Amino acid sequence: MRDPETGRYQREGKWQIMIHGESYKPIVAEAARKAATEVYNRIMVTHLLMDESKPNRVGGAVGFNVRTGDFYVFRAKAVIVCAGGASHIYKPRAVGEGMGRTWYAPWSSASAYALPILAGAKMTQMENRIVLTRFKDGYGPVGAYFLHLKTYTENAYGEEYESKWYDQTKEMVGDYIDRHPVPTCLRNHAFLEEMKAGRGPIRMVTKEAFQDPHKETVGWENFLGMTIGQAVVWASQNIDPKHINPELTTSEPYVMGSHATCSGAWASGPSDYAPDEYQWGYNRMMTIDGLFGAGDTIGGTAHKFSSGSFTEGRIAAKAAVNYVNDLRNEQPRVSERQYEELQQEIFKPLETYRVGRNEIVAGTVSPSYLLPINGLQRLEKIMDEYVGGISAHYMTNEPLLTRGLELLGMLKEDLAYLGAEDLHQLQRAWELHHRLLASESVTRHTLFRTETRWPGYYYRGDHPKLDDNDWHCFTLSQYDRQSGEWALEKAPVYHIID
Ligand SMILES: Cc1cc2nc3c(=O)[nH]c(=O)nc-3n(C[C@H](O)[C@H](O)[C@H](O)COP(=O)(O)OP(=O)(O)OC[C@H]3O[C@@H](n4cnc5c(N)ncnc54)[C@H](O)[C@@H]3O)c2cc1C
Repeated sequence: MRDPETGRYQREGKWQIMIHGESYKPIVAEAARKAATEVYNRIMVTHLLMDESKPNRVGGAVGFNVRTGDFYVFRAKAVIVCAGGASHIYKPRAVGEGMGRTWYAPWSSASAYALPILAGAKMTQMENRIVLTRFKDGYGPVGAYFLHLKTYTENAYGEEYESKWYDQTKEMVGDYIDRHPVPTCLRNHAFLEEMKAGRGPIRMVTKEAFQDPHKETVGWENFLGMTIGQAVVWASQNIDPKHINPELTTSEPYVMGSHATCSGAWASGPSDYAPDEYQWGYNRMMTIDGLFGAGDTIGGTAHKFSSGSFTEGRIAAKAAVNYVNDLRNEQPRVSERQYEELQQEIFKPLETYRVGRNEIVAGTVSPSYLLPINGLQRLEKIMDEYVGGISAHYMTNEPLLTRGLELLGMLKEDLAYLGAEDLHQLQRAWELHHRLLASESVTRHTLFRTETRWPGYYYRGDHPKLDDNDWHCFTLSQYDRQSGEWALEKAPVYHIID
């Protein structure tokens, strides 16, 4: 929205402009629809196809229609993965009937990571999960409150607490605590330490700002674009922010490449800016020929958010068109055998359920299959307890990570026995496969980076300090589908702007 007097975009803070997401989502969707000759909706993509005539080259993708169950084979010279980030790999704060209430969208199924990982693409910064400070129980956004309404936080006794933790944080991360604005993870760190010191809950002071009717309206409207549920939670808990300062909490960790963290696939850089060694092909192409990505899928480029993600999608699409044109008549070879084998694998959980359902022991417990919900809860529990989730105060170490990997390995074996009652559950089954592979990647990366670079997002208890000498770098991993082995390495960070 522009300032009527200056004609410039209205800013909320130093960099932020109000995006009015409720309006622009349909605008972006319409543009996408007009740009495509054919749109296939409701297809869950489960696997990428690989070219059989040239190693390390993509040949398409397969999936199934979640309403009809039809199997789809897309032969393609180029593929762009843009399947969002990963929620529900860690146990959420809301469990049971409230488990759908997460901050990142529940449909962020980690496909964006599992698809390239399985194809052998290099991944980067998968340890860089994010933890959000949000209004409690509804995950309502706090950024606009701080920036626009000029609200602030305090502990249970009405005290400012962030400055109390300055010296302790400086000891851990050095001068990063003096950056402006203070890095978000470090503000989380002060929040968590204050809670652990027994001075919670932390509250947002809204009572002052909400006396101004304009700010009160803005405060409520702020939830409309992204988290209407927060308004409902406040209503149901008798919280009127004009009279009560609402509680804040820190979320379970999420993995993503667009929203201030930079997990995802390692992509070739732009020809005008990237150092030579970071250009091996077309812009946004992964380490697999013809495989591109955008938004949450691509790592190493953290501050994309929504406009950056769709812009990256446009860049990736243009690069993919150039790649296809340059291939001329060359076609990837994909045999029927390749996709028929995948078809068998994809629909197997329906068969497993059909055969095993007569052996029910009690309720939904069967000796022959595992339901996706049970597998998901087991995954979330492992990640929570061993890889730095909420119940461990985001803390982990080498022995925990090593045991976590063993347990993830056992879960992986058991996923061969997933049972799906219907197509909806079949989708859940494949989401679980994708979440598990992404979780394994997160755990491997967390084990590899022997420092605590982002206190407030996670802590390595055995390496509690930030270590710029050894770890001011990207972490890269590559999965070998045949052997199940992971290879990890470091890649240098080049600062192209001061
Ligand atoms: C609560 C909340 C508030 C936010 N606020 C802001 C904000 O104020 N400003 C801002 O700029 N950004 C904001 N963001 C971030 C922004 O939404 C993301 O950065 C952006 O949506 C990422 O775009 P993407 O295209 O990579 O992923 P998404 O927008 O998540 O799109 C991925 C799509 O892929 C689909 N998909 C997933 N797996 C598969 C599969 N296997 N097969 C087929 N389809 C699949 C999903 O259903 C989804 O439609 C917010 C995000 C959240 C959750």
